[in-house]
Amino acid sequence: MSASPKRYDVAIAGGGMVGLSLAAALAELPLEVVVIEPVAPDADEQPSFDARTTALSSGSRRVLEGIGAWPALAGRTTPIRRIHVSERGRFGTTILDAGEQGLAALGYTIENRLLGRALRERVGKFARVRLMPARVAALETGADAVRVATDTGGTVEARLAVAADGAQSAARGALGIGASIADYGQQAVIAHVDTTRFHGYTAYERFTAAGPIAVLPIAEGRSAVVWTLASEEARRVLALDDAAFLAGLQQAFGLRLGRFTRVGRRQAYPLALTTADRIVAPRAAILGNAAQSLHPVAGQGFNLALRDVAMLAELLAEGGDPGAPELLARYEDSRAPDREAVVRFTDSLVRGFGLPLGPLARVRGQGLLLFDLLRPVKREFARRTMGLAGQQPRLVRGVPLPGGRA
Ligand SMILES: Cc1cc2nc3c(=O)[nH]c(=O)nc-3n(C[C@H](O)[C@H](O)[C@H](O)COP(=O)(O)OP(=O)(O)OC[C@H]3O[C@@H](n4cnc5c(N)ncnc54)[C@H](O)[C@@H]3O)c2cc1C
Repeated sequence: MSASPKRYDVAIAGGGMVGLSLAAALAELPLEVVVIEPVAPDADEQPSFDARTTALSSGSRRVLEGIGAWPALAGRTTPIRRIHVSERGRFGTTILDAGEQGLAALGYTIENRLLGRALRERVGKFARVRLMPARVAALETGADAVRVATDTGGTVEARLAVAADGAQSAARGALGIGASIADYGQQAVIAHVDTTRFHGYTAYERFTAAGPIAVLPIAEGRSAVVWTLASEEARRVLALDDAAFLAGLQQAFGLRLGRFTRVGRRQAYPLALTTADRIVAPRAAILGNAAQSLHPVAGQGFNLALRDVAMLAELLAEGGDPGAPELLARYEDSRAPDREAVVRFTDSLVRGFGLPLGPLARVRGQGLLLFDLLRPVKREFARRTMGLAGQQPRLVRGVPLPGGRA
């Protein structure tokens, strides 16, 4: 007779940026947690902790502090002191300045690989969090637990299952939650570049007819480029040699950082807006890309997900059954306004500025010129960028979880 499966309080499908962040948030609570993830955080093929750089909001910094991951990151982040927004072929420029907002920084950049290492290190300190190297293959919801089967033949049970297994989430489907997918027909080409002019801790967001380009300040005076292009154009640009790539980027971005002199490895990510119909199911919650996968134009995906993590951890810290329907209903209700606003904000930014001949094409130049004058809009943009908008969970406000760490 086979032994009955080990029972956990929380089983997390996916140990990428969001799954591991949740595990770190729960690590100091009296909960038994298992993270089921097939790819080690430092493996080359890790899809979450890869060659990308993530722009973290100030709110995300506070969450990472609250979950104990910041000390390992602090020396490796680069502050963003200014955000410069412009549109090719038009004179409008908007500058968001940390000083103007009374802040030392609007946000921080961190290489995804370093983030993965810091989260893994943090989680590894807690015997109550188990990392299981496997892929979730099936979920079956019972009255008091979810049974999770893996591709390695293992089975565990948990009072709460969390799907954090990315945009194509198999767990989401297995939980019976549908998702709508709107393909943008674009890809984000990413690369690190050297420039002749120091970035001065400024992040650039440039809207061009072909799509938006973000150039973020990173360590050692280098910059991380996220260049969004129609899929076919992205494939062409990826295939260029370094000199031709740099020349194309230079033409699209201009001379704000002087000349682009060197480019590292390039990678492309197909872009779609994926939104799950719901973010809870009986004894289950879905988080991160599995709940909503956004266009990276405004760098909001992980920042939004960390607020989901903070709220779920806050509710779980109250004690009781982690999969109780009332807890899940509170989680869904409390996250709805932020989630809907960020999805709408990001999508309208892409459709308004990013796509050629978008519905706002005729007024977008004017809109951008006015942007600097429209203080409330600008403030809203800055607040969203910094992750300060809306009702905030405790960790986002820098308040420790009850029963958790300071
Ligand atoms: C080019 C680009 C730039 C971005 N820049 C920013 C930015 O600056 N700021 C920001 O906030 N956001 C940014 N984002 C968004 C951010 O990357 C996502 O929000 C984040 O990756 C979501 O993490 P996740 O853990 O939910 O999903 P993923 O990163 O997709 O990770 C999913 C994990 O689940 C695992 N998995 C998959 N299937 C299974 C299974 N069956 N069982 C178990 N595990 C499984 C995978 O191996 C992986 O580790 C950017 C995105 C892109 C594409």
